Amino acid sequence: MPAAPPPFKRALSTFFILFISCPNVLFADDSKAKNVILFIGDGMGQAHVLAARVFAHGPAGRLNMECLEHFGYVTTYPNGSFVTDSAAAGTAMATGHKTSNNIIGRGRYGQEYKNVLELAREMGKATGLVTTTEVTHATPAAFAAHEAHRAEAKAIALDYLDGVQPDVILGGGAWVWTPDLLEEARKRDYTIVFTKKEMDTLDSTKSKRLLGLFAHSHMAFATEQGREEPSLKEMTLKALEILRRDPDGFFLMVEGGRIDNAGHNNDLRRLIHEVLGFDEAIGAVMAGLGDPNDTLFIITADHETGGLAIVGPGGHLPGKGEMVEVRWATKRHTAADVPIWAQGPGAEAVRGKMDNTVVFSLIKEALGVASAPGGLPIKIGRE
Ligand SMILES: [Zn+2]
Repeated sequence: MPAAPPPFKRALSTFFILFISCPNVLFADDSKAKNVILFIGDGMGQAHVLAARVFAHGPAGRLNMECLEHFGYVTTYPNGSFVTDSAAAGTAMATGHKTSNNIIGRGRYGQEYKNVLELAREMGKATGLVTTTEVTHATPAAFAAHEAHRAEAKAIALDYLDGVQPDVILGGGAWVWTPDLLEEARKRDYTIVFTKKEMDTLDSTKSKRLLGLFAHSHMAFATEQGREEPSLKEMTLKALEILRRDPDGFFLMVEGGRIDNAGHNNDLRRLIHEVLGFDEAIGAVMAGLGDPNDTLFIITADHETGGLAIVGPGGHLPGKGEMVEVRWATKRHTAADVPIWAQGPGAEAVRGKMDNTVVFSLIKEALGVASAPGGLPIKIGRE
């Protein structure tokens, strides 16, 4: 009879069994990050992740995002109320400061907060924003603009061009970019593309900066995507192709922005496919990471939308391809905590209950930024 394996070997085989459905990426968390990639599922609560997981893999499977080693959950409340919008939550993650709903990159009294794109740029790193919503929408705006209200789309676009000048901006919202704004963008060395074909055939070695505007307003839901529009995965990979040219590294924010719209519409089918499109982009990035110890990888949400509860099916375990039975509590945002996953330098600080401002702290610490802008103490880990 063979002897039982020693405890170490048992632990090792358990480890590999646990990770068997995940990409084979192993990380050491002991260095500074050269690159940071932040994925934000707009409106993506834990139940949204579960509904997508069951549909894609069955209840026992796991999504790419669920393969990251460190995880916890964050509170999302803004300044002065309990239920956040994407502007306040985006500002909290991008700057480490709570603000009131509708405000982009500023405090309640108008004070400007430095964001992680500005910090990355000061360190000589390339920066990028990718979203399935309008590129001037609240979440990307919070990372590269400073405006009193999220509705100031044109002012937000000008903030991008006159401020941090992200090297890559990809998404929808062409209506905002009137000919004068496009001219300003060209003056700042942006190559501008409007279709997937133009993006795919672009000679990226010849473009200093890239602005992609693939839809008049938000891009189509993943379920209705035409051939003219790239997927979130395709945009993300193009952004990485360009950002990787910078020897100093990069910061990239990728938003699965239409998860929120599907939640507002209480549309489970679209919601599942939006989460899966978001997860597909995450999987592609994980598979393509060169040295994983170079890159801090964070995945989270800005808030939950819809008050989604999963109540069935009753009587049997749902199989792959099956939509769970749900109840929606609202067509608006909720105050529910949202999940956070992380991997790479500094990611071990992600555990248990935290606040959404931790996203800024994690990025700042991982990049090795010396002091906290704004003079507030930065806390890592638990709130
Ligand atoms: Zn929303």
